[in-house]
Amino acid sequence: MIKVAVCGANGRMGKEVCQTVIDNPDTELAAKIDINGSGVYSSIKQASENVKIDVLVDFTQPDSIFENAKFCLNNDIKIVIGTTGLSDSQIQELKDLSLKNKTGCMIAPNFSTGAVLMMMFSQIAAKYFDNAEIIELHHNQKKDAPSGTAIKTALMMSEAKKTFKCGNCPEKETIQGARGGTSYSDIQIHSVRMPGFMASQEVIFGSSGQVLKIRHDSSDRKCYMDGVMLAVKHVFDIY
Ligand code: NAP
Repeated sequence: MIKVAVCGANGRMGKEVCQTVIDNPDTELAAKIDINGSGVYSSIKQASENVKIDVLVDFTQPDSIFENAKFCLNNDIKIVIGTTGLSDSQIQELKDLSLKNKTGCMIAPNFSTGAVLMMMFSQIAAKYFDNAEIIELHHNQKKDAPSGTAIKTALMMSEAKKTFKCGNCPEKETIQGARGGTSYSDIQIHSVRMPGFMASQEVIFGSSGQVLKIRHDSSDRKCYMDGVMLAVKHVFDIY
């Protein structure tokens, strides 16, 4: 039985993960951790002093995740990170620490099958188009922009093509930010935050006379759970 602690247990994702861990015959919910609410530990440090934890699943926020992850990797607790907003240098530091301490760490900006396929399809399409932009649309409580999924998609596309065209003529923004933010390989990312959306992303490719749109929509947080549980089991196989 894998003893799983969930950090961010009272949040939107955390609640769903707690229930999934309870329902799965191979896992046991060892601890709920959140800075909010009663009946939960307030930190991974406090929880690990009281109960045995094999894996921490973290769905908190960008400001918290880095310290949580370092604590786990320094204390023989494997970690599955769903929280987005880590910088490239923070990710590299966690990779190095994981390797040094031989403690498994998995970071995935998106655990849903459809979103992973959207990213893979976009990487394939990137080879064949010179123009590409990403629009991501999320609920209005999301703390980071652009989304981790959009950044990862751009990174994967940049492995297929070094530079994308950003428009085709000299551009002037009369409203700052109108053309979005520039990411890997000059891919523009546009972030929409609005009630009514959960998480959606459209990757748009264009060339003369044609447009290809690759879109994924999530409407229920259950879509992430198979991927989270796969990661909880796979994190044991890394070392
Ligand atoms: P949320 O509803 O705001 O939940 C986060 C919870 O964590 C809140 O209860 C929050 O408390 C708590 N928290 C914040 N800092 C903490 C800390 N240091 N220790 C313990 N608990 C802490 O957010 P969400 O919608 O569940 O999303 C959480 C993260 O998952 C975001 O980064 C989001 O982008 C990401 N996400 C990833 C995937 C994926 O597939 N990888 C899918 C969906 C979402 P407060 O409310 O007081 O801040």
